[in-house]
Amino acid sequence: MRAVEIVPEASLIIEVVNTRYGQQKRLLDAWPGRTAMENWLRERGLIAATDIVSDGDYRRAIALREALRTSLRRANDAEAMVEAISTINHVADHTLLRVQFTDVEQVQLAPESNGFDGVIARLLAAVFTCSIMGTLARIKICQNHACSRAFYDGSKNQSAVWCSTRGCGNRMHARTYRQQKKAPT
Ligand SMILES: [Zn+2]
Repeated sequence: MRAVEIVPEASLIIEVVNTRYGQQKRLLDAWPGRTAMENWLRERGLIAATDIVSDGDYRRAIALREALRTSLRRANDAEAMVEAISTINHVADHTLLRVQFTDVEQVQLAPESNGFDGVIARLLAAVFTCSIMGTLARIKICQNHACSRAFYDGSKNQSAVWCSTRGCGNRMHARTYRQQKKAPT
């Protein structure tokens, strides 16, 4: 199968949402605390060696990550959606972005601030760019709730619901099969 090319903006969103997913034995948490988040951002060159992540920054990033997960899940839950959008907008209130031309027809949104604020700005700019490119619709959250991992749906008809057909897809099919067998006929 041909590997799907993912724009860097989509990769950034997926990578950030996937700093946490899964449950119990399958739990992955790359941001268990402020210092872990700081190291994670530094390793990727998203903040400079001298930049720090405060407790408030940490809480803001976690809130934004989970609000993004909720909005990308696109579940039929109006209340959760309103709350997620309100959180995203609240974080975005303090974000400074500027329109920057890299060529006559190449325009991007560039963060106006450095450090942690710059990371938030870059992430929100990525969401904006993916949204106008139509790519945001391809960023999904695995429908296996115990997983909730973000993934890119590169399928032709954009119908993928699990992060992997082999892993979560198989597990969910097996569960449905067991439930059907249990149900009285
Ligand atoms: Zn999954």
